[in-house]
Amino acid sequence: MKISVAVLTVVFSAPQLAAQTLALANYVGLPNLCVVQEHEVSNWLKTWQKRLRLDAWHIEVRIVPKSELKPDTLGNLKWKLIQRTAIISVLGSLGYDRSSLCSEIVQDMEYTVVHELIHLQLSVLPRDLNKKDIEEDVVNRMTDALMSLDKGSEFLARSSIPPKIPEAKAVGKVTIADRKQ
Ligand SMILES: [Zn+2]
Repeated sequence: MKISVAVLTVVFSAPQLAAQTLALANYVGLPNLCVVQEHEVSNWLKTWQKRLRLDAWHIEVRIVPKSELKPDTLGNLKWKLIQRTAIISVLGSLGYDRSSLCSEIVQDMEYTVVHELIHLQLSVLPRDLNKKDIEEDVVNRMTDALMSLDKGSEFLARSSIPPKIPEAKAVGKVTIADRKQ
């Protein structure tokens, strides 16, 4: 997939130019000088919505500042199951840490879109609010698998490897989930 990253362009009027040159020069050295535009994020939505076969949903995606998200989050999903409508909010590139590379930010924003779409896939199942952490972990693993297939070796997984279950506790009730024809 082609990703074009718009570099922040600042246009100054002639009288402002000299005064702003120094400020701009300071800016150019920053690694976080990238702006991911709405149409890029919409393209990711279109691609992954199709891949995940979520065509029955009307999904919107918007880029938001940090102030519109819960602390320590990079995005969120709001949905209406009956109407099959959803809105994905994605933290904008300028909300990322200044030490992050632009390529990392771009990939992370796409990751957020895929992550939220997988939450949407799971939204048709009964939800246990006490197990939100488990859902989060499962969603991250699935997102990692899909993104790793799409991006190849350049992709770094986000999910952690679960602790090994001690053998004595590993015996449990067998649950069968058939793959129906
Ligand atoms: Zn999540």
